[in-house]
Amino acid sequence: MTKTGSEQDVRMRGFSRRTEVDDFLHWVDAHTSALEDEVVSLSAACGRVLATDIVAQLDVPEFDRSAMDGYAVQAEATEGAGDYNPIAFHIVGHAWPGCPYEGSVPTGAAVRIMTGAPVPAGVNAVVPAEYAKASESRVEVTQAVSSGKHIGRKGEDIKQGSCPLYAGRILRPQDLGLIASLGIPAVQGVRRPRVRILITGNELVPPGKPKKLYEIYDANSSLLQALVVRDGGEIESLQHCVDDPNAIAQAMAASGADVILISGGSSVGSEDHAPRLLADLGQLVIHGVAMRPSSPAGAGLIRGVPVFLLPGNPVSCLCAYDFFAGRAIRRLGGLPPDWPYFSRHLRLSRKLVSDVGRVDYCRVRLDGLASVEPLALSGASILSSTVRADGFVVVPSASEGFGQGEEVCVYLYDRVPHFDEA
Ligand code: AMP
Ligand code: MG
Repeated sequence: MTKTGSEQDVRMRGFSRRTEVDDFLHWVDAHTSALEDEVVSLSAACGRVLATDIVAQLDVPEFDRSAMDGYAVQAEATEGAGDYNPIAFHIVGHAWPGCPYEGSVPTGAAVRIMTGAPVPAGVNAVVPAEYAKASESRVEVTQAVSSGKHIGRKGEDIKQGSCPLYAGRILRPQDLGLIASLGIPAVQGVRRPRVRILITGNELVPPGKPKKLYEIYDANSSLLQALVVRDGGEIESLQHCVDDPNAIAQAMAASGADVILISGGSSVGSEDHAPRLLADLGQLVIHGVAMRPSSPAGAGLIRGVPVFLLPGNPVSCLCAYDFFAGRAIRRLGGLPPDWPYFSRHLRLSRKLVSDVGRVDYCRVRLDGLASVEPLALSGASILSSTVRADGFVVVPSASEGFGQGEEVCVYLYDRVPHFDEA
């Protein structure tokens, strides 16, 4: 089904046929699966996908420990203790965390004990320091305690042989703490995909550099780097290429990346080299998508590495990345493939019109959680529309849009909504 570079040279001819969004998504799924796993130290493991189960080789704690600073005693010996009936104990020793009291504790004796210290043999409760008045060698307790009181039992946190975390877990900070508490310094994690970003365009200048009037600052480098990092990718390299086929081909053909993103030059203009180069170097499988914005997006493979052609218009670039490239990166990293956006079902404040035959990515604003306002369709070059928006609505290909008051699914750009919950 794929064609050679010259057969696929559509420059200045337009797209004869556009791929359906769903077909593009199926292609992404068919060509991406979780990469191999690797050893990841705990300091680098946050957000990684665990590749193997964690099995506890020890109990946590490995010994009964005091949950309070106070006095370890035999609970029975405190019976009847109270403010008006202090009971005196002889202090026979101290227990600190990491430094147990190893002597015996006769009836009527106490051991001064700190939180986390091992509970000595022969005692079964701890009287908190607040209920004790002590001198060097004697303590009077004013609270009766029951057996086991203020003692954390061996294995109460994690039982030896249990499996506190399973493969597939996206590691949270507290997971790393738990793994460390089992004495494990590193885990097997799914390798992060290495993503090459090629930014093409003669007119582009990096921010911070002086530019001529008709040059423009490169927005997509910053946009794409942030998206790749959000999706668990590692930036293999970020390269700027002029619209020169040789330079772009060289950057595309080099090995070392798990995914290649090419920004700009993806359409049918005379300087749009990327599609033909992809066909020459590998396979151009998709070129032209039935969606708006991002219709000039495309994709293919070079030696099995997925390559995404992202239109240079920043909104299209964002949209094509989010629909297709981001999904590939998440799948390679073992993450859930779906959008990392929360969604809400909310009512439209006015109608949202769309053409049948293409998917529409409509930026919307929220009025709290009361209603959703479609932003006036502002074209693929108006990046500020995505900045003003709180999220977006996807209008399916078969739909003419939604009427005023109709409930739609809104994907929210922010993970933490900055509006009040209703
Ligand atoms: P292209 O996809 O290369 O035809 O570019 C389409 C439009 O997007 C043109 O107006 C470009 O100047 C603009 N554009 C391309 N790349 C970028 C970029 N990295 N940052 C901002 N605008 C861009
Ligand atoms: Mg260009």
